[in-house]
Amino acid sequence: MKGKIKVIGTGPGNLDHITPAVKEAIEKSEVVVGYKTYLGLIEDLIEGKEIISNGMKQEIDRCTMAVKRAREGAIVVVISGGDAGVYGLAGLVLELLEEEEMDSVEILPGVTSATACASLLGAPLIHDFAVISLSNLLTDADLIRTRLELAARGDFVTVLYNPKSKKRTELFFETSEIFLKHRKPETPVGLVKEGYRQGQTVKIVRLDELSSEVWVDMTTTIIIGNSSTICKRGKMITPRGYLKKYTV
Ligand code: SAH
Repeated sequence: MKGKIKVIGTGPGNLDHITPAVKEAIEKSEVVVGYKTYLGLIEDLIEGKEIISNGMKQEIDRCTMAVKRAREGAIVVVISGGDAGVYGLAGLVLELLEEEEMDSVEILPGVTSATACASLLGAPLIHDFAVISLSNLLTDADLIRTRLELAARGDFVTVLYNPKSKKRTELFFETSEIFLKHRKPETPVGLVKEGYRQGQTVKIVRLDELSSEVWVDMTTTIIIGNSSTICKRGKMITPRGYLKKYTV
């Protein structure tokens, strides 16, 4: 490989939450590969560069093009939202490379939706948490159900990515049922739509109200509290246990 590939995540939305290293990688790149929505959010940074962009379902085409351009000698950035290593393109790029090309790729961290959305809700991820995508495009729905069941049983705070689309609504409603079997109905659940983007919505509801929040969509992240998560003045808090252990 004559060029280089950097797989990067641009954070949740606006440029305030992009890391300096990711910004620099974009500035130094010649070719920018990514899904239209993410490129739109960083349009000022990519002006004048060669852009390879197509629809959401063409990830293989996009990453194959990225590898091709890097083989030809270009400095390429492949862009995901959030962190490229969390339901992003870092895995696919590595899978497509030949073994001897592995040294030509660099993966840079970004702010993922779980932590970005947690910051808007308060401090819900202070204790052990699980992250589950409800998208069954690439994962068998029964496996997702098993993971939900085990996360609920294990009392993990649970972050849901890809919670519901126009066509895929079933697992969203099932998730409420599964968690209600193991957690109190009043368990706080945080919902963030378009976090750190225009149109941001932040809401905290009870677990038994979650299934009524039909506006939840693919730009939303959901955080279900564990058995000790509380709500204080509109902030979700999962206590780490300091106060219980060190004060009377
Ligand atoms: N690589 C990304 C995740 C891609 S999966 C990351 O690290 O964040 C896409 C899912 O991420 C969406 O369905 C949604 O659940 C979540 N998401 C992405 N951007 C978001 C935002 N600005 N606000 C809330 N959720 C977001």
